[in-house]
Amino acid sequence: MSEPRALLSSVFGFDSFRPGQEEIVSAVCAGRDVLAIMPTGGGKSLCYQLPALAREGVTVVVSPLIALMRDQVRALREAGVSAGALTSATDEAEAEEIFSALDAGRLKLLYMAPERLARAGTEALLRRVRPTMIAVDEAHCVSQWGHDFRPDYLEIGRLRERLGCQVTAFTATADAETRAEIVTRLFPETPEVFLRGFDRPNLDLVFRPKDNPRAQLLDFVNARRGQSGIVYCASRARTETLARALGEAGHSTLAYHAGMEADARRHAETRFQREDGLIVCATVAFGMGIDKPDIRYVVHADLPKSIEAYYQEIGRAGRDGLPAETLTLFGADDIRLRRAQIDESLAPDERKEADHGRLNALLGLAETPHCRRRALLAYFGETPEDDCGGCDTCRERPELHDATEAAQKAFSA
Ligand code: ADP
Ligand code: MG
Repeated sequence: MSEPRALLSSVFGFDSFRPGQEEIVSAVCAGRDVLAIMPTGGGKSLCYQLPALAREGVTVVVSPLIALMRDQVRALREAGVSAGALTSATDEAEAEEIFSALDAGRLKLLYMAPERLARAGTEALLRRVRPTMIAVDEAHCVSQWGHDFRPDYLEIGRLRERLGCQVTAFTATADAETRAEIVTRLFPETPEVFLRGFDRPNLDLVFRPKDNPRAQLLDFVNARRGQSGIVYCASRARTETLARALGEAGHSTLAYHAGMEADARRHAETRFQREDGLIVCATVAFGMGIDKPDIRYVVHADLPKSIEAYYQEIGRAGRDGLPAETLTLFGADDIRLRRAQIDESLAPDERKEADHGRLNALLGLAETPHCRRRALLAYFGETPEDDCGGCDTCRERPELHDATEAAQKAFSA
């Protein structure tokens, strides 16, 4: 087995581990089943890529997005690692190349789209190559009550049972319920769980009651001219009206939603990735595949649908670790809309109940008079000792501070 630390610099070009990575990597290299919950941008990929390289054999990675898999495969190949992806976008020549690398025992990482797992032939293929490990990225997709449920993820547990290999799972989004669901669906018994570091101290958290959202958005964006940002909207129409309003105010801006042609969407993603100072007004369709480190703000022009969605969406800002801002506007109409969307969905009742719970948790966060960061972290099971002192509720509590000071004076007098 190669030394992980040496590979960290020789293959990935990093001189140190990010918080949490080293412990996870060594547990994985020791062959243990692991569930790791790390924040967005925390560096989860490395936690399965590095053990894959450090050990013999091939690691199968299941990941929900073709674009993400392609990016990772490209980056790995550039670093000289033998990696390939089998997805619906893989052409025959590429597949042949992957199979022969597999047969020659050269391939280190095989990315597979979840829909590939249930396909005839996949089990036989995997039995033949005997993967060292199955790594499940974005593991919350296995949760039926979660917001990113992918039915094909359920196939992973069945495959693992038949192959009997090590399994590891990674996600940024997991409340206690989701964690329990991941464990029962993916693992033969309770894995080693790494849960830490949800806090993104460089993200400023601000919520504001919505009165005139267009004006509120313009004020915010005008004060941050030239910065790259995402403005999340609840509807396609709204992405277009807000993009137009920002454009008229002289900002470089684009709308993005799932109703656009695939080409237009890709074009928007590429522009956003490459240009500085572009603002994308988007529905939630935008973001999962975006790896732009210098997004300086995320505005929610409308209330997101759950606290998980909120956390994941704001998590796209400030991945470079530099200060970044978030602003969430919320009003009574938003709450009604979100409630109606849940009620009108065709989901079973338990699911609706869970969705209402996640929306309520977000409303609780929006209305908390206490430290907002603590409230957010508490939802994910973290209990920081002190208020952060840097979120909007901490900054804007003059009455409380004054009252405390006055009380202190009164007592010390
Ligand atoms: P996640 O999947 O947890 O959201 P990624 O695996 O995509 O995060 O990593 C986020 C970014 O951090 C990537 O650009 C990656 O190259 C970088 N990164 C990961 N580990 C390290 C490290 N130890 N040192 C420096 N950069 C790192
Ligand atoms: Mg990731």
